Amino acid sequence: MKVWQRALLLSASLLVSLNSTANTDIILDGELTQGSLIRGQAPAGSQVFFNEQPIKVSASGQFVFGIGRDAALQHQLTVITADGSRQALPLTFSRREYDIQRITGVAQKYVTPPAEVSERIRNDNRKVAAVRKTLSDKTAIFAEPVLPAKGRISGVYGSQRVFNGEPRNPHYGLDIAAPVGAPVLAPWDGEVLLAEDLYYSGLTLIIDHGMGVTSTLMHLHAINVKPGQQVKQGETIAEVGATGRVTGPHLDWRINWLQERLDPQLLLAEE
Ligand SMILES: [Zn+2]
Repeated sequence: MKVWQRALLLSASLLVSLNSTANTDIILDGELTQGSLIRGQAPAGSQVFFNEQPIKVSASGQFVFGIGRDAALQHQLTVITADGSRQALPLTFSRREYDIQRITGVAQKYVTPPAEVSERIRNDNRKVAAVRKTLSDKTAIFAEPVLPAKGRISGVYGSQRVFNGEPRNPHYGLDIAAPVGAPVLAPWDGEVLLAEDLYYSGLTLIIDHGMGVTSTLMHLHAINVKPGQQVKQGETIAEVGATGRVTGPHLDWRINWLQERLDPQLLLAEE
């Protein structure tokens, strides 16, 4: 089923259930499944809580939330409107099944890194986690995305990775195979948060699209932008490469809501 159909069904059912108690219009756009980013609209001036935790709401009442690859399936969204009325919406997400992807020919230093790079890897992880805490007022994420590269999908979100026969962490990105030097486009408007060479992900860009949502673009050959720079959706910001833990040139595109790793493919409209 197409995402927008699910979204319509979902909003219709929420509107029905809410109309029996109050006239609070809450619209959710996205598939209620593991790895999904859900974009929502509540009346302006509302406060919104996901599992009792307050989440950011834009001036016009827009908000986002998401759950990870293996997250629990029962969640709760609570909306308190400007007049103080409170609506609690139980949300049941679906469980996904993930493939096993066996990858051979990975340089062994990326399968089992030598002890001398463990501090570098810890540092990389700290830097990435820090910039992913960014919670800006931008609302670029409410637009439909532009695919950041053209090419065959060579890896998907969630797959369990086995490198040279050794099980490793799941894959959290969407891999698009493309030649070295092919353009990488900004999937939405945003601000560059990080542009650095990291151990596993090679030359890496992280872009803030607002409301806690970031894109991470990995294994780049070159980066054309700098931290602090504003980028426009569709603008060429980098080149596809084969840096870091790869077996060939591709773009790995990841989406986070704060530290939660989400599936870019769920945000792309189906043909
Ligand atoms: Zn990848």
